[in-house]
Amino acid sequence: MPISTDFKSRLYPIATQLVEHYGTPFHIYDEIGIRQTGEELKQAFSELDGFREYYAVKALPNPRILGMMAEMGFGFDCSSIAELILSRQVGARGEDIMFTSNNTNQKEFETALGEGGCILNLDDISLIDKVKNFPELVCFRYNPGPKRTGNVIIGNPVEAKYGVSHEQVVDAYRQAQKRGARRFGLHTMVASNELDYTYMVETARMVLDIVEMVSNELNIEFEFVNIGGGFGIPYHPDQKALDLEAMSAKIVDVFSAFKAKHGYAPKMYMESGRYMTGPHGCLLTTAINHKNIYRKYIGVDACMSSLMRPGMYDAYHHIDVIGKEDRAADQVYDIVGSLCENNDKFAVQRPLPKIAEGDILAIHDTGAHGHAMGFQYNARLRPQELLLRADGTVELIRRAEMLEDYLATLSFSDNRFKPQRG
Ligand SMILES: *Cc1c(COP(=O)(O)O)cnc(C)c1O
Repeated sequence: MPISTDFKSRLYPIATQLVEHYGTPFHIYDEIGIRQTGEELKQAFSELDGFREYYAVKALPNPRILGMMAEMGFGFDCSSIAELILSRQVGARGEDIMFTSNNTNQKEFETALGEGGCILNLDDISLIDKVKNFPELVCFRYNPGPKRTGNVIIGNPVEAKYGVSHEQVVDAYRQAQKRGARRFGLHTMVASNELDYTYMVETARMVLDIVEMVSNELNIEFEFVNIGGGFGIPYHPDQKALDLEAMSAKIVDVFSAFKAKHGYAPKMYMESGRYMTGPHGCLLTTAINHKNIYRKYIGVDACMSSLMRPGMYDAYHHIDVIGKEDRAADQVYDIVGSLCENNDKFAVQRPLPKIAEGDILAIHDTGAHGHAMGFQYNARLRPQELLLRADGTVELIRRAEMLEDYLATLSFSDNRFKPQRG
């Protein structure tokens, strides 16, 4: 089921008022839903000592949302300087932050290790020598290559740019030891939007196998493993949700077996983005045009600048016409934005009830990789973000981008250069 019926029952009755007050388009996030999912996740893994979720900041980098994650005791998975700054602004310090960058530059290392530091998760063996002031605690991102077929979405690990290869992994820790590392973690991320829980159980087993191998070679213990993000959500009404209980029970078994064999088990971390917030956001947009040519089109006041997953990945996002949820879906529409790109469509050949201009459409499951992926092509600007709070009030948590923001980079001091001819 895309978005919870609870979120609908909280949002749809007030949608018209919200649209009158804030105007469309906007993303709106559901505090109650996000907190419920967070508590469910903690509960599911409560048998694993030291379990921690590191929210993937890139999924929804808004300080109000990140503040909620911090309140739930979660850390943050960052991969850029801005994400580090946002996480530190909500109080994250040191091991509250996992810095999982790739193709990293010096400035990023400096920012990551400065200001209270982080858990440094290195993406490549060649980076070991590039880190100045090598930290005591280090982690590597492991890429299993041909040892694992990727899930459907992320593809084949052999073709993925991330991580150290299987052949390099022991050497990576050996070199890190030489540079002074005394505490160790292991990370991987081999799935995206995976709904089959057994794939995640295999990932837990895989990282513990690597821990065992490296430990035996180098005589070290691992403090944690991080099984990455990639926990899926059902975007389509016919899809079934990830079975969190079955998954956690099996993963707990895998850790118990490790502990029985080795006398200890590393802590388990994960870094979900989508699973935490994806279903708890909605994009509300107003139908402003309709045209009938070879197909029927409904033009709305949002476009790919608000949500590019449909255009970029052909991703399905369920759509309700608010107030018409119970009417027959007896029309077939393409729901389109105004970008001069034909993939600027939120839905293609979608059965929906008859839409009138002025109707409000709710595009589901935009709480992760929604606003965050927005862009400015065609000078179409990014929309505002709202939070539906637990007390039923609504708060603006990001204003809409304005023309002044777009034009700001065209205001700068003169800087001309004349190359020497020689
Ligand atoms: C994108 C990303 C995540 C989050 O992925 P979701 O699909 O949102 O769970 C976690 N870890 C890393 C390293 C990522 O790049």
